[in-house]
Amino acid sequence: MWKRILLLFFLVALATALLSAQPRGRTIPAQNAAAIPVDASPKLVAFTFDDGPHRGSTDRLLDGLRERGAKGTFFLVGQEIDEARDLVERMRDEGHQIGNHTWSHRRLDELSDDEMTQEIGKTDALLKAIAGEREYWLRPPYGFLREGAEKLVGVPVVKWSVDPRDWESRDTEKVVRAVSDAVRPGSIVLLHDIYPTSVEAALRLMDALSADGYQFVTVEELLQQNGITPRAGVSYRSAGE
Ligand SMILES: [Zn+2]
Repeated sequence: MWKRILLLFFLVALATALLSAQPRGRTIPAQNAAAIPVDASPKLVAFTFDDGPHRGSTDRLLDGLRERGAKGTFFLVGQEIDEARDLVERMRDEGHQIGNHTWSHRRLDELSDDEMTQEIGKTDALLKAIAGEREYWLRPPYGFLREGAEKLVGVPVVKWSVDPRDWESRDTEKVVRAVSDAVRPGSIVLLHDIYPTSVEAALRLMDALSADGYQFVTVEELLQQNGITPRAGVSYRSAGE
């Protein structure tokens, strides 16, 4: 008799233990799900395109950016603009950043102050006439600027942190690989939209990187989103330096 009561007691206790354990068991997957890191902050990167505008490749790039909802930054050579004013207007209308890459792509560190001011000023005036009154940031050709010349520039100077040397290889595959290996959130990528191979590489990179959580913004937005207030005459290589 006592054995039966003890057995019954044991069974009731076991059933109670199992039932009370069940909700705890249910919470485990929920806790695990909550512990999976949710990456709320987007990874931002700025693609920059130098030496254009160039009909045939710049418009193809603009089409691709529009299809992807991506923004880019274009550093334009003044003497190339007249042939492609409509493309400059398109850049402005489609939310891209337009910058100054001098009038005739000369090395600014080899010019006098006056010559340098002219190279920059002539393009700045044309951009203002076509795309409107605003600041057109400078990318010096080849990245060269004489020490002490920054104060004459009057706008922020944009350099880069990722350079796949696309002008040298003109090989889409190589450019894609070089950028993929080096890019990280906050990078400024240097490309040239005068080469169809570079345009193709940029669009392929955007497709691959967006699957990895990247978003493509202008240099101005990249700095702003990283809490950096751009200053005239200061060089920016990425949002991290
Ligand atoms: Zn250039």
